[in-house]
Amino acid sequence: MTQSTLSRCALHQDPVRDDIPFYQPTGQEVALFEHAYRQRLPLLLKGPTGCGKTRFVRHMAARLGLPLHTVACHDDLTASDLTGRYLLKGGDTAWSDGPLTRAVREGGICYLDEVVEARKDVTVVLHPLTDDRRLLPLERTGERLEAPDDFMLVVSYNPGYQHILKTLKPSTRQRFVAISLDFPDADTEVDIVAHESGLSRGRCEALVNLAARLRAMKGQDLEEGVSTRLLIYCASLIQAGMPVLDAARAALLEPLSDDPDVLKGIEDVVTATF
Ligand code: ADP
Repeated sequence: MTQSTLSRCALHQDPVRDDIPFYQPTGQEVALFEHAYRQRLPLLLKGPTGCGKTRFVRHMAARLGLPLHTVACHDDLTASDLTGRYLLKGGDTAWSDGPLTRAVREGGICYLDEVVEARKDVTVVLHPLTDDRRLLPLERTGERLEAPDDFMLVVSYNPGYQHILKTLKPSTRQRFVAISLDFPDADTEVDIVAHESGLSRGRCEALVNLAARLRAMKGQDLEEGVSTRLLIYCASLIQAGMPVLDAARAALLEPLSDDPDVLKGIEDVVTATF
């Protein structure tokens, strides 16, 4: 851990523990998460891809000493992928819990990443879990599971990807307390990129400055701005000995666009920076 990270941890009065994944807060999200957990409220995290949502949840699960059940949602994901199903075992069928059911039975955090991607029937199982009943009815087994106090449901989505067919209905989103996460301010992002890649702060500063310019192109030329994740990839390649421009091409240009004109525009910004 770098000196600056240590001093920031002191600033946030966080005990530094090796078994807790590193997470640099960008606002009041740690306190809000803890309150939501203690009040048994479900939480919605909004923010662009690669801004730290998953890392934040991993950090909070470790900090609160809770098991974490993560599900990366996709457009084929159904309610039974979350709740469970009968499987053939030998000649018999046996019920097998899905990750949501496991978290409700055993306690812990169930994190549904990019929840809007999932099929519509998923919201049906989430609704009774996200009000004061905190119930998971399992039609197939006839059970009605009551969530224990140490169960918490956390979902995330990226508002930037929304289109008319894929959005959270108000009746669903109004069941959650919500936090907006975004890319951190420049100083914090330098800390994060340096910590994760091992590259010096000075060299990370140049990358973070470049990110600010590329993020300013969002909406005009680029659908999404460069993420903290991509900056870390770029810094890791440079730290491993790759020439800066090659690393920037592989980690910052190519993942952002397929359009030759846009790529040329980004390349000009990159070469002007280094
Ligand atoms: P998301 O879930 O929003 O797509 P991730 O949590 O996977 O993004 O973040 C991508 C990477 O960026 C993480 O693996 C971590 O290395 C880094 N990262 C982003 N934000 C932070 C932060 N605030 N503190 C520590 N690491 C961060």
